[in-house]
Amino acid sequence: MARKKIIAGNWKMNMTPSQAVELINTLKPLVKNDDVDVLFCVPSIDIIPAMEAAKGTNIQIGAENMYFEEKGAYTGEISPDMLTDAGVKYVIIGHSERREYFAETDETVNKKVLKAFEHGITPIICCGETLTQREQGVTIDFIRQQIKIAFLNVTAAQAATAVIAYEPIWAIGTGKVATTEQAQEVCKAIRECIAEIYDEATAAAIRIQYGGSVSASSAPELFAQPDIDGGLVGGASLKPDFGQIVNYNK
Ligand code: PEP
Repeated sequence: MARKKIIAGNWKMNMTPSQAVELINTLKPLVKNDDVDVLFCVPSIDIIPAMEAAKGTNIQIGAENMYFEEKGAYTGEISPDMLTDAGVKYVIIGHSERREYFAETDETVNKKVLKAFEHGITPIICCGETLTQREQGVTIDFIRQQIKIAFLNVTAAQAATAVIAYEPIWAIGTGKVATTEQAQEVCKAIRECIAEIYDEATAAAIRIQYGGSVSASSAPELFAQPDIDGGLVGGASLKPDFGQIVNYNK
């Protein structure tokens, strides 16, 4: 069965609750595309108003992060039950900005992935190399390690429903998009790694996004690649351009 594309916006630390509602109302008519799962991952405080604003549309609302404990003395964190109670079905895990500024590691990513699955939330698991790693020729080795640790103790049935976002760090927010060949090569290697960990059926089912300065002009070629099942979009998800990205195939 063909994999349905999933195109997700990552709003990062942008948009107050009232701005979130305004942006959703602006984008609502622009992001209709039944061929694609359309997801807006928004700051925690925006989740509930965004859900309300997106009601009755094809827009799903996801989270940008989640803690790996159930509840308790973890000031400032957001729990899986808080997300599911608000209707959240997807959460970004291990974005490179969280790894860089908030000390996330492959191990905490794995704990969060397991916890998300335990609560029926689909993780969007981020991976990606630095420019130095790419220049040293260790990109694939590095990403295989990130994937193998992220998926420790994840069952094949769970893995088949996961989303992986391949985001070369040097391409995030820099306007420097990976070439189509570079993006396809790594997404293919990720799928092969999933086949090694699990089996061909799991590898064929899992959805792999590309992220890193995706724009309305780069999206059509990127998303046409055999191993690229959509995108994780930062900057351009806050603009009407996101409508063109979602409608890359029209
Ligand atoms: C991201 O935030 O995951 C991202 C890819 O950002 P940008 O599209 O702005 O590079």
